[in-house]
Amino acid sequence: MTRLEVSVDYGAITRNVVRLRATTTAQVMAVVKADAYGHGLVPASRAAREGGATWLGVAQPDEALALRAAGDTGRILTWLYGPELPARALLAAGVDLSASSLEVLDVIVSAARQDGRRARVHVCLDTGLAREGVRAEGLSALLDAALAADDAVEIVGAWSHLAWADQPGHPTIDLQAQAFRDALAVIEARGVALEVRHLANSAATLTRPDLHFDLVRPGIAVYGLPPVEDPAGASFGLEPAMSVTASLALVKDVPAGQGVSYGHDYTTPAATRLGLVTAGYADGIFRSAGNRAEVAIDGRRHRIAGRVCMDQVVLDLGPDAPERAGDRVVLIGPDGPSARDWARAVDTIDYEIVCRFGGLKGKTPA
Ligand SMILES: *Cc1c(COP(=O)(O)O)cnc(C)c1O
Repeated sequence: MTRLEVSVDYGAITRNVVRLRATTTAQVMAVVKADAYGHGLVPASRAAREGGATWLGVAQPDEALALRAAGDTGRILTWLYGPELPARALLAAGVDLSASSLEVLDVIVSAARQDGRRARVHVCLDTGLAREGVRAEGLSALLDAALAADDAVEIVGAWSHLAWADQPGHPTIDLQAQAFRDALAVIEARGVALEVRHLANSAATLTRPDLHFDLVRPGIAVYGLPPVEDPAGASFGLEPAMSVTASLALVKDVPAGQGVSYGHDYTTPAATRLGLVTAGYADGIFRSAGNRAEVAIDGRRHRIAGRVCMDQVVLDLGPDAPERAGDRVVLIGPDGPSARDWARAVDTIDYEIVCRFGGLKGKTPA
């Protein structure tokens, strides 16, 4: 019995990157962290490169090394680690490194000197997200240390990340942009010629061309899920790349008043036909989706009836429903709900939906 099948249209990823490139004169870094948001690190990265992504961005150093091991030879930036980062391996692999602190910079400098290399470093600026990055008051000390290690470190980039980019017009966006420009001025006043300045995630790439600088870092949009509404109602021309399907294992008639699934959280209002889908929370279906999220069979929508179990859910198909055992059940796809629909149903964001479904299963190219 098949459980969840996650398929990814890698051509859609390529086309989405082409679309994003058309919105900007900046270079595009496709963000492929977290296994490319569940879409598969290596094939998604290849697809993004084909669309013209001159950079790939990952949070974890391992992901950068995995890309090199898979043969990627383009620019790659990794940004999320403490002093434990495998700096020698990353430098040997020609990966650009972000530096948020003196501790991390020290490790990079030592590794570079040990092997006679010069690290390409992007100074990470905390302009108000209060996550990774050096705050303005710590910037000079970080620059002092980097410039004193000029033999081992080349500052090639400076970057930051926005807190409210998905709410266009939020006042923090302009405040962060100003803090970013101020920090760039401090860096450039030290005689550093920055190759790439970058701030924009997907939302800012789609809504704030004035914040594109030299490089934009879209993630979710690469996978076809715009984080902001397109004023033209056309999803910015982006195509969702992930589809999730399952199989209908059993169809049976039950009378009115039948409690369904654990705890009988759903009771049939009338005599009806139930369908059993053999995928549950162990497969990535949020347990909170019970009685809330919908799936589609042959274009007909059905809400999950009652609780989501570990490996199965039940649908109330309606009396005399045409569905048959073996039918394909679409959880996410062009002919069914979207990742956004799931996010609304279980009170999260579509980012978590695709990471979750994609994270638990192998991907098959669509
Ligand atoms: C995840 C991430 C991105 C991409 O964000 P999206 O909202 O998916 O476009 C860009 N930059 C950084 C630092 C990130 O962590």
